[in-house]
Amino acid sequence: MNAQEFKPFGHEFSGIVEKTGKNVTNVKPGDRVAVESSSYCGTCDMCRNGHAELCRNKYIFAPRYNAFAEKAVCKAGALVKFDESVSFEEAALVEPMGVAMDMVEMADIGLNDHVAVYGAGPIALMAIRLAKLKGAGKITALAHSHSAARIELARFYGADEIVLTDIEDPVAKLKDERVDRVLVTTPPQTLRDAAEFASFGAIISMIGIAKNKEESLCTLDINRIHFKRLQLRFSFASPALFFPKCLDMISHGLVDVKPLISHRFPLEEMQKAMDALRCDKAHAVKVMMTASE
Ligand SMILES: [Zn+2]
Repeated sequence: MNAQEFKPFGHEFSGIVEKTGKNVTNVKPGDRVAVESSSYCGTCDMCRNGHAELCRNKYIFAPRYNAFAEKAVCKAGALVKFDESVSFEEAALVEPMGVAMDMVEMADIGLNDHVAVYGAGPIALMAIRLAKLKGAGKITALAHSHSAARIELARFYGADEIVLTDIEDPVAKLKDERVDRVLVTTPPQTLRDAAEFASFGAIISMIGIAKNKEESLCTLDINRIHFKRLQLRFSFASPALFFPKCLDMISHGLVDVKPLISHRFPLEEMQKAMDALRCDKAHAVKVMMTASE
C-alpha cells in the first residue's frame, strides 16, 4: 500500500464467517472474526527472518478495500477469531488499536516517563491508555478546543493535562517541562513543535499520513534535533499487527474501547454517518456502521 492507495474509511471491521474456500482451515462458517486491513505474506525473506512488520508482499483484505458492505470477500489469512467476551463493535476497533500499539511500542515508554500525545483522535486516545499501561508518569494531551468529547475521553484514558493547541502555544506551555516521549498523530508540521518542546534525549514516535504532498512536507530544525539528541521514529502499522493482543486486552478489560463510539448508524444511513463525522466536531469520535442481519 502506498499513500495514493490509502483510504481513510471502511477498513476497520468485524463480522461472522459465512462461507470459506475449500482450502481454508483457520476459520469456519459461524466464527466471529476481526479482519486485518493488510496482512503479511509469511513466506518472503523478511517474514522468514522474523520481521513480518517489514513484509513487502503484504496483501489487502479485499479487492475493493472497503468494508461498507453487508458482505466482504476476505483473505483467510487476514482473519483473527475472537470469542463472545468481545463484541463486534469492540472487535472493529482492534485495527486502530493495533496502530496505536505500534506507535506506543516504537516510543519505548518506560516507567514514569512523561509523555505528550499530539492529537485526540481514536488512535491518540487509545495511545494514551496504552502509554499509561506501559507505566507513563504524567501524560499531556494536545488537542483542538472544538473536540469536547475527545478531550473528555483523553482524561478518561489517563491524560493528566490538556493543552488546547488552537488557544495555547504548545511550545511555550511545554518547553520547560519534562517530556520524555512524544506521540504524534497529527499532520507532519506538528513535528516541528514536538522537536522544540521534547526534552533532551526524548523519543518522538509518529503515525501520521498527510492528505497530500504539500501537507506531507515539513521543515525541521535539525540542529535542535541533533543537539538535543532526539530520536524521530515513524510507525506504520501495515501489515496490521497485534490483533490477538488487542482482542485479549479488550476481553480482560485493560482497554475499554466502547466509549470511543460516539455515533451508531445502520449501513443505509452512510450519508448521515459521514455528516456526523465531518460536522459534529464537538461529539464525533468513532462512528460505527452496522449492517442489518
Ligand atoms: Zn512477507
